[in-house]
Amino acid sequence: MSAGPIRSTVIAFCANERRIRNRIECDGPHHVSILSLRIEIFPQGSMASRWTMSYLPDMQRLIGSHLSIAGGYYKAADAAGALGMATVQIFTKSSNQWRGKPLTDEDVRLFQEAVVRNNLQQPCAHDSYLINLGSMNDELWHKSIEAFVVELERAETLGLVGLVTHPGAAGESEEEDALARVVEAFNIINSRTAGFRVQTWIEATAGQGSTLGYRFEHLAYIINESQDPDRFGVCVDTCHIFAAGYPLGTPAEYAATFQEFDDVVGLDQIRAFHLNDSKKPLASRVDRHDHIGEGMLGLEPFRHLMNDSRFAHLPMYLETKKEERDGEEMDAVNLRTLLGLIR
Ligand SMILES: [Zn+2]
Repeated sequence: MSAGPIRSTVIAFCANERRIRNRIECDGPHHVSILSLRIEIFPQGSMASRWTMSYLPDMQRLIGSHLSIAGGYYKAADAAGALGMATVQIFTKSSNQWRGKPLTDEDVRLFQEAVVRNNLQQPCAHDSYLINLGSMNDELWHKSIEAFVVELERAETLGLVGLVTHPGAAGESEEEDALARVVEAFNIINSRTAGFRVQTWIEATAGQGSTLGYRFEHLAYIINESQDPDRFGVCVDTCHIFAAGYPLGTPAEYAATFQEFDDVVGLDQIRAFHLNDSKKPLASRVDRHDHIGEGMLGLEPFRHLMNDSRFAHLPMYLETKKEERDGEEMDAVNLRTLLGLIR
């Protein structure tokens, strides 16, 4: 063999074969996450004479969806894998009931095996919609605290990294009083779950009705006033912040909105995104999710987001309607739309 540089072929591929079908050829620099890497080195003059790499766009961004646990927690993880997704969000119990069946060791084992089998990163949960930690009604407030502790326990046991929660609703009371009540509740919750690894991700909301969390200031207040700010992060929902009045369309609007977020909360507090288009206009304060690019947001905000290197490492979960179009799951369509925006 002659001296000189060895020319190589590098083939990067994912251990989960089902992801291959979502492979898109791309060129130019990208942030690439690769779960497994096979390197084959051929001597000079062999048929492989240049570097090539197959990027896996779904691994470049941790895009997933909220998926059903009907039939077992592992079903959501397997469904995410089958869709070519890199992460998943679940309810750990029915979202509109206070009580849930206790988790069994079998539930946990099957779920965790499915997470590994499907190479999912940063799986998370969303809490029940019944919980209101801002309530002035003592009975509901205490019930909400108990329920949130259980939500955290279940998420921790399943090995989830975050529990997304809407911060509560003020009802008839003043927002400031309700926000103080939320902080008080979290102080109790966090002391009762000391040492947990799962974080509470406060979600930015649309501000429908008397819902808290539609101003970035609300999120900052809850985190900063709590005794354990390290237990929190923020989940930014594109539909919600737009409906709450933060524009995202033009590059300038997108930049200004995240500059404001940085000034008020800090970009380093963002742990996750919810990717949803909005059926309702800017500042409508109405929370109606639409498929990506088909609502009042359109594609541009998602193009900015998918190419924003500051958020490239963060999980992003779709919460769009489960339905089919031309025989294809809309989760798959929305995923393809998002991946197609990556430059
Ligand atoms: Zn959301």
